[in-house]
Amino acid sequence: MEKVLIIGAGLTGLSAGIALQKKGINTEIFEMAPWPGGVCTAWVRNGYTFDGCIHWMVGTREGELMRKMYEEVHALREDSIIYHLDSITLEIDNETYVIPLDVVGFKDFFLDFAPEDSIEIVAFCKEVEKISKSKLIPGSPQNIKEFFYAITKGRNFLRTVVKYVDITVSEYCERFSNKELVKIIYHLMGPSMSVFALFMMLGTRMGKNGGFPMGGALTMIKNMHEYYLSLGGKTSFNTKIDEIVIENGRAKAIKSNEKEYLGSYVIVACDIHYTLKNMLKDKYPHPVLNLMLEEMPLFEPLMLISLGLDKKYPIPYSAICSMTKPIDTGGMNKTSQYQIRTFDFDSSFAPKGCSSVLVTLSANFNYWQNLRETDYQTYKNEKELVAKKIIDELETRYKGIKESVKVKDIATPSTYFRLNNLYMGSYEGFLPVPKALKMKIKKQIIGVKNLYLAGQWITPGGGIPPAILDGLRTAKTIIKKY
Ligand SMILES: Cc1cc2nc3c(=O)[nH]c(=O)nc-3n(C[C@H](O)[C@H](O)[C@H](O)COP(=O)(O)OP(=O)(O)OC[C@H]3O[C@@H](n4cnc5c(N)ncnc54)[C@H](O)[C@@H]3O)c2cc1C
Repeated sequence: MEKVLIIGAGLTGLSAGIALQKKGINTEIFEMAPWPGGVCTAWVRNGYTFDGCIHWMVGTREGELMRKMYEEVHALREDSIIYHLDSITLEIDNETYVIPLDVVGFKDFFLDFAPEDSIEIVAFCKEVEKISKSKLIPGSPQNIKEFFYAITKGRNFLRTVVKYVDITVSEYCERFSNKELVKIIYHLMGPSMSVFALFMMLGTRMGKNGGFPMGGALTMIKNMHEYYLSLGGKTSFNTKIDEIVIENGRAKAIKSNEKEYLGSYVIVACDIHYTLKNMLKDKYPHPVLNLMLEEMPLFEPLMLISLGLDKKYPIPYSAICSMTKPIDTGGMNKTSQYQIRTFDFDSSFAPKGCSSVLVTLSANFNYWQNLRETDYQTYKNEKELVAKKIIDELETRYKGIKESVKVKDIATPSTYFRLNNLYMGSYEGFLPVPKALKMKIKKQIIGVKNLYLAGQWITPGGGIPPAILDGLRTAKTIIKKY
């Protein structure tokens, strides 16, 4: 009975489990997928690894509180190597832009590009530079020491949050007269997002404080899960929880397939729509989250096409490319762009001389979900068809690549739903638009004791740092009550 039950073995659930086990509190994590990690995952096919998650892990610089947090849960080690990108490649209207990711190069690039906006470009770059030099603050300060840290070492970060969290990228861009410059910025961060997110993305990358940890999600999750088990934690895979049992206003158990598991606390570290509508049967409303589920935009669902190639091609680490002609990724979802990445900088990702490549496309959740449920064979054929179109598209750019494809793996928004239960296939919850970022989301449900909500659905914008931080902080709340 004296056990904390955790629903979800993603970064949030694992972090909470680790922190509780460290304090000698018995926990069990219930996970519907056959493996840990949630959306922070990578998969291996015939010797090729494909990382479906990490592009940019914020707060990895030595001395950062976030770096300490990552080490605390074994997501990173002291000697973990972080790969930093020196440029971002974008293709817009048949023009290719290689944008340097250092403050001076970035500023020069934009000043050359749009000299008429020089005053605003300099001001923009100053904001980015401030973030690049500032310490980051993982969440709101919890004590005097953290508060002092925030207002001294993290003051530029704080200032940027306060000044810009309310302003969208498109509102900020009104100050630029060059429309092509604005297009480039929109490709770096969507126009409806908070401009704070743009400063963070650029600033942390330029400050070598947001990169790719070598080994990627596979290494990170393996290390975290092994650490959790070594502390005495238990994970039950292939166990989808379908009910949270509330008795006398208190969460007392969870159920999977009619089997009941008793516990003293329940941490929900998974999809919030399923939690409110199914596990709590819509009987225990959370006014803010219910409203957000109705009104706030979600991350657009994705289709991931992973390719194992028998040789290397000059594909950048991460690029947004234009199609020669738009393709339909199912359900009349026409897309004229794709994101492509290779992992050639990390030799653990492919056999010697070979290359792992991942293409990401926007996709229609309902189309893929319905097709998979109603006609599995057509679902498989349609997936293959999109992959074929993409490989043909790549062939126009990288001659011979078609023949080089030795491994192919295709995930649709329905794959994310099947494995991780993601509402509408939204892989990172609510988009970081200003309205969502300003919502005060309570981590408990009125009238239900001993039940805590945690994870990416509780922090708009999601991401690795909020997931780990939320897991740790939720554990801390419970530890205080034990
Ligand atoms: C393509 C992609 C790229 C990304 N890139 C980055 C990046 O570059 N930088 C960054 O910081 N973040 C990135 N993220 C986001 C980051 O990975 C997530 O925000 C974070 O991992 C979320 O962790 P979580 O534990 O809160 O949620 P999840 O990973 O969703 O974990 C929830 C877990 O609960 C399980 N579950 C759900 N329902 C049930 C149930 N009823 N019973 C049992 N188990 C259940 C799920 O299977 C899942 O394992 C990316 C994500 C994706 C998909």
